[in-house]
Amino acid sequence: MAYPMPSAKTLLRRGWHKKCPQCGEGPIYQGWIKLHEHCPVCHLRYLPDQGDLFGPLILLDRVVFLIPFIVLFYFRLWHPGMITFIIVGIVMTFIMVYTMPNRNGVSLAFDYYLRRQTGDLADVEEPKGE
Ligand SMILES: [Zn+2]
Repeated sequence: MAYPMPSAKTLLRRGWHKKCPQCGEGPIYQGWIKLHEHCPVCHLRYLPDQGDLFGPLILLDRVVFLIPFIVLFYFRLWHPGMITFIIVGIVMTFIMVYTMPNRNGVSLAFDYYLRRQTGDLADVEEPKGE
């Protein structure tokens, strides 16, 4: 079955909403953060190798979100009152944990994009019409 390559915006939206990057219909998780192996709608295999969990993308995500967090708190570059410090810390931790499936979904969508670009998913490539 051929699926046209979704736009970057569509991919990001699908990823954030935890939907299959290819068809935008199937859920990517079977619970809070456990991935389905295949999309139940279009049967896209989400990860070529289960367990090599998006590799560098996850790492990048963690770096982008965690490093500022660590710098801010661990090195105490920011000196608010103790109450503010604790409240902001709790809120940031909550946001980080709460949005984890969404950010992983975006990583998955990006991974899908790369796989399409590199021809790894050539079997779902749209016919070129040549
Ligand atoms: Zn799908």
